[in-house]
Amino acid sequence: MQNQLFIDGRFVPAINGGQIDVLCPADGSLITRIAAAEAEDIDLAVTAAQRAFPAWAALPAAERGRLLLRLADAIEANAEELAQLESLDTGHPIRDSRNLDVPRTAACFRYFGGMADKIEGAVIPVDAGFLNYVQRKPIGVIGQIVPWNFPLMFTSWKMGPALAAGNTVVIKPSEITPLSTLRIAELMHEVGFPAGVVNVVPGYGHTAGQRLAEHPDVGKIAFTGSTATGRRIVEASQGNLKRVQLELGGKGANIVFDDADLNAAINGAAWAIFHNQGQACIAGSRLILHERIADDFLGRFVELARSIRLGNPLDPDTEMGPLTSALHRDRVLSYVEVAKEQGGRILTGGKAPSDPALAGGYYVEPTVVEARPGDRVAQEEVFGPFVTVLRFSTDEEALAIANGTAYGLGSGLWTRDLQRAHRMAERIQAGMCWINCYKRVSPGSPFGGVGQSGYGREMGFEAIHDYTEARSVWVNVDAQIPPHFKR
Ligand code: NDP
Repeated sequence: MQNQLFIDGRFVPAINGGQIDVLCPADGSLITRIAAAEAEDIDLAVTAAQRAFPAWAALPAAERGRLLLRLADAIEANAEELAQLESLDTGHPIRDSRNLDVPRTAACFRYFGGMADKIEGAVIPVDAGFLNYVQRKPIGVIGQIVPWNFPLMFTSWKMGPALAAGNTVVIKPSEITPLSTLRIAELMHEVGFPAGVVNVVPGYGHTAGQRLAEHPDVGKIAFTGSTATGRRIVEASQGNLKRVQLELGGKGANIVFDDADLNAAINGAAWAIFHNQGQACIAGSRLILHERIADDFLGRFVELARSIRLGNPLDPDTEMGPLTSALHRDRVLSYVEVAKEQGGRILTGGKAPSDPALAGGYYVEPTVVEARPGDRVAQEEVFGPFVTVLRFSTDEEALAIANGTAYGLGSGLWTRDLQRAHRMAERIQAGMCWINCYKRVSPGSPFGGVGQSGYGREMGFEAIHDYTEARSVWVNVDAQIPPHFKR
């Protein structure tokens, strides 16, 4: 298992020798100690990425693509090992690591591998006699800071488009979950990525992350994490006016109308919040129910929530694993008290499971809380297996509740009425809206938020756009330009 920094094509210790314990969330045991990058290590990594940039950008685009395609193949060839590593480090149930995280990671690298030689410019119709063409040029060194909730998948969301477009990368995984990103670095090295093109520097946010965000030679910083840290990233970026892309928190509105297919909606709503223990920025954490179906829906939803199998993430029967850190488990549980203080009703969960086999891990029971739209648990991101139920009677009311937070990332609605579905999707203020489904993602479909959920988009041509600069070139083909100064 790799536990050092990956800089300039080699695994190296941190300059100051610092290390961080990586714990298994299922029982709190020590998995390994990793090297902790600090500012000096970040500087080395940025220098390596800067050195590698001209040759990488000049490489034929199809060659860059070929390396990304080979990486996707290597991920598939090592799928089981990566799935086990991700589950061990994050607590993702192995069925999800196998069926979602690993295949989605390979698919994303493959998508951007295929796209590398399809990043086309444009020819602009301008004044007669001139040719104006626009090229998309890489930015340079990209800093990427990723959180602990989907570390493997986020390596592909962040690195795939950046590398395809010809940039080089310094990526800081969360120090809580660095293992799969370090393994990806190893695979990249094996399939032939040149030294310095990708550098992986796990470390603390306030030291390593801060330095990367403020580094004068980094052209863009792409960040996924909390809105509060997102603001700090923007401040740190000011020195060299680097580009910033932010994928921040969410408070996903998931609206169930009274004409919905309730079986599908109940199952889909449970998936929307309980997948990955609710640690997802797009989680459907506000369940907004039409009053006519609310009681029936809740009775069955709570029954389903209680039946979800919590267990060791490496057990194929486990449907929900532990939260990723003890600190985060405590934060999630603190919201149960917040809910109670404001009169919220705990319909199920709200505590750690009583099963002694799970006592050493960071588990939280699936939790369903009924509250009011203005309550803190209906406004703030809990980021756990904690869903806040709200009721509505008219479409307008549903919309007002859905749009009544500072966030705007994922959203969902369940209805059989096609016109209502489109009408509501049009008016929900969110980057993504799922109709009669939830949490669908694809490497081709733009992903990102509005409001306090951030700006910029991952995936698809939108991401490529965000990882390139437009350069406009004017050619005087045979324009007759009258003299500007009559001499
Ligand atoms: P943070 O936003 O603090 O952490 C995300 C990443 O940013 C980590 O790698 C972190 O490193 C790094 N970071 C922290 N401070 C800085 C800084 N000053 N400069 C640069 N990088 C920094 O999230 P938390 O882990 O503290 O989680 C708190 C809450 O954030 C969650 O409860 C959830 O609401 C939200 N969140 C949202 C995510 C999303 O997918 N949008 C993902 C994760 C969290 P380090 O770990 O060392 O602090």
